[in-house]
Amino acid sequence: MKKEKFPDIDWWCDNCRAYLNDQPGFMDSKGSWKCAECGYTSSITEADIVYDSPAEEYSDADFQTCTNCGRSIADANLTLPWEAGNNPSAYVRCPHCGYDNILSGFGEDDD
Ligand SMILES: [Zn+2]
Ligand SMILES: [Zn+2]
Repeated sequence: MKKEKFPDIDWWCDNCRAYLNDQPGFMDSKGSWKCAECGYTSSITEADIVYDSPAEEYSDADFQTCTNCGRSIADANLTLPWEAGNNPSAYVRCPHCGYDNILSGFGEDDD
């Protein structure tokens, strides 16, 4: 079985944007990879992984209204997972009705 250092991470050539994971002999544990398409050596390290930012996702429309009262929670404070000690999920407490709007999936990582 092939052991990947960064499972589920897709790597793309920095030069020609070719998909590297599919290239013959690709290993993400080498720290870099020479593209089979163009010969450019892309670095393959943790610092090169571009994650989607959950903070940006959740600043968008989805969580700007309270599930309970339907009023705006755009300016309400976000409480991060475990920030309050007993909340496995992030939530935004509605300043109007006090309802905790759970942001499922927020800040999850498989540590
Ligand atoms: Zn390339
Ligand atoms: Zn509310």
